Amino acid sequence: MGCACGDKLRKTRKVKVGRFTIGGLSPVSVQSMCNTNTRDLKATVDQIRRLEEAGCEIIRVAVPDMEAAFNLGRIKRAISIPLVADIHFDWRLAVEAVRQGVDKVRINPGNIGERDRVKEVVKACKAAGVAIRVGVNAGSLKALKDNPKPRWAPEEWARQMVKEGLDEVRALERLDFRDIVVSLKADDIERTVLANAAFAAKSDIPLHLGVTEAGSSLAGTVKSALGIGLLLRQGLGDTVRVSLTEDPAMQVRAAYEILKSLGLRQYGPDLVACPTCGRCQVNVGKVIHELEDRIYSDANLREKSEGLKIAIMGCVVNGPGEARSADFGVAGGKGRGIWIEKGKQIKVIREAEWVNEVIRKIRNSK
Ligand code: SF4
Repeated sequence: MGCACGDKLRKTRKVKVGRFTIGGLSPVSVQSMCNTNTRDLKATVDQIRRLEEAGCEIIRVAVPDMEAAFNLGRIKRAISIPLVADIHFDWRLAVEAVRQGVDKVRINPGNIGERDRVKEVVKACKAAGVAIRVGVNAGSLKALKDNPKPRWAPEEWARQMVKEGLDEVRALERLDFRDIVVSLKADDIERTVLANAAFAAKSDIPLHLGVTEAGSSLAGTVKSALGIGLLLRQGLGDTVRVSLTEDPAMQVRAAYEILKSLGLRQYGPDLVACPTCGRCQVNVGKVIHELEDRIYSDANLREKSEGLKIAIMGCVVNGPGEARSADFGVAGGKGRGIWIEKGKQIKVIREAEWVNEVIRKIRNSK
């Protein structure tokens, strides 16, 4: 939760998720979800470790059956970030997930079943100090059971989403359970923004922001950036997850780029690159992609590069000017470029050496 200047606007209640706190005055945290089979221990742990390097702070895994639930303890012991169990339909999976030591359980009020069953989940979470996320999805509202194709305006969709979220929250609070996070997701920006804003006006519960089923890399990132960004800009949101049909590492990077562009978090360097044009005689796109892959897959490099401005420019028209205003950078020529540091031209280096030189410079920077 916060505004573009980084100040907190809406103070939500604090919810502990492992070593993280969601809400209160904590920075907006970044989450992702594995796309591996949770029954496959190695694939899941490998992916989570890769996501940790990329900066993921809380990770969720699907728990479709007991075999997956029984694997959660081993996954948890092999990783360093809080683990969230994603549960649909069967409350017993949630209880087993808690027994296995997860840090948070996500339940969907639209399909978790009768209140008596939820009571068992709450009892287990309370005893273990485990938080619950009530994840309301527009596509699986209880109200759709009687009315599967409603002709609701976006405002009415939002009202229904908020109602189901609040109903569930009140049921948990009646059981004296308060470690709750809520998400209200739709697959479009309008319903997502309306529902979250309406919920925030009625509750101090931290909000997990996301646009569900956002889509492929470009379309999904644009949709998520707008939906999540509009809410963050209003000071709403405590934790974010960008849903993309993509490697989850890209979800993490997209989430940070949204937060970084609003001044809410730092993440890696400020990489400035020209769009290239007919004058360009080097492959700026390839250099930038290689640099991003190296920096964002290595937590140490990423942290060291925080706050640095690095310019990769195609030619000497704008290149020297941009590179001079950066901490360091390169202005291209034919298969080579002028290396510039703190405004001074230092040397000429071959294009094939640009990436390694930038990485070397980051490693030696602090
Ligand atoms: S810096 Fe040079 S190559 Fe890049 S867009 Fe400008 S003129 Fe074109």
